[in-house]
Amino acid sequence: MFSLLNTLVEKNREYGKEGKVASYIPALSEANPNELGIYVVDSRGKEYYSGDYNKKFTMQSISKIVSLILAIRDNGRHNVFKKVDVEPTGMGFNSIVNLEARDSGKPYNPMINAGAIVTTSLIDGKDVDEKLEKILDFMRTVTNNDDISVNERVYLSEKETGNRNRALAYFMKSTGVLECDVEEVLDLYFKQCSIELTARDLARFGAVLANDGVIPWTNEKFIPKEVCRIVKTIMVTCGMYDASGDFAVNVGIPAKSGVGGGIIATVPRKYGIGIYGPSLDEKGNSIAGINLIKDLSKELDLSIF
Ligand code: GLU
Repeated sequence: MFSLLNTLVEKNREYGKEGKVASYIPALSEANPNELGIYVVDSRGKEYYSGDYNKKFTMQSISKIVSLILAIRDNGRHNVFKKVDVEPTGMGFNSIVNLEARDSGKPYNPMINAGAIVTTSLIDGKDVDEKLEKILDFMRTVTNNDDISVNERVYLSEKETGNRNRALAYFMKSTGVLECDVEEVLDLYFKQCSIELTARDLARFGAVLANDGVIPWTNEKFIPKEVCRIVKTIMVTCGMYDASGDFAVNVGIPAKSGVGGGIIATVPRKYGIGIYGPSLDEKGNSIAGINLIKDLSKELDLSIF
């Protein structure tokens, strides 16, 4: 496995040149587009890695999986899906027209920004700090890494420039989909997007999802199986922005990407996979990362379909 990963990382690293690192969040523009790393955790907890697997980056949209899980845990799935649908959009992750065009005013799904702002708003807690601690505790448990924390520079950069997200949130406040204080929920959303980790952390989280919520290294039942099933299904239909259909056909693994360059993938009962490659394609997915996982899926016959 190690030599396969080395070969695939070196083969796909050059795709970094064809994409661009995210720049609409200024702090993200400092990333090195040539970096590419992968980490794989199998169902017995064995770990394999190659390339820049140890490089830190921010979760960005990958945090949307966490806010969905916590929102369901705190409210029940029925109450969550009263406020956000589970339909793919075919439009960009921060589309505004997408929101206004719907009669229900509900965001299409929890993997686009509007939907994630809703799930974040449903996390219980007395204030932003307490809710953030819940998110961090969750992440520390599923990664077996107590050092997981927020990158303050990225957080401040997002907060300063996140007017598109502000527009989405205020619109949803006007329609009643968001019931809480808008600035507070945005603050938590920007913080969760700025949680910093490595491909290893993502692979371990992916392994917990692959294992139906049981943590492979402790055997603790941490996320209910049914919640894992829902989350993995939504990852397939909506996890890779408006390239989710193409990803399902060519890779066939539940996955979620973020504009920080991360991809988390989870092969049911087999592998958790974490990838880092900050150069993005025009949809916002890691360009080298997508090509790398496409090759890996083919080599190991990982498609679930
Ligand atoms: N923090 C980013 C935003 O809200 C997340 C987007 C992403 O990774 O897709 O724009």
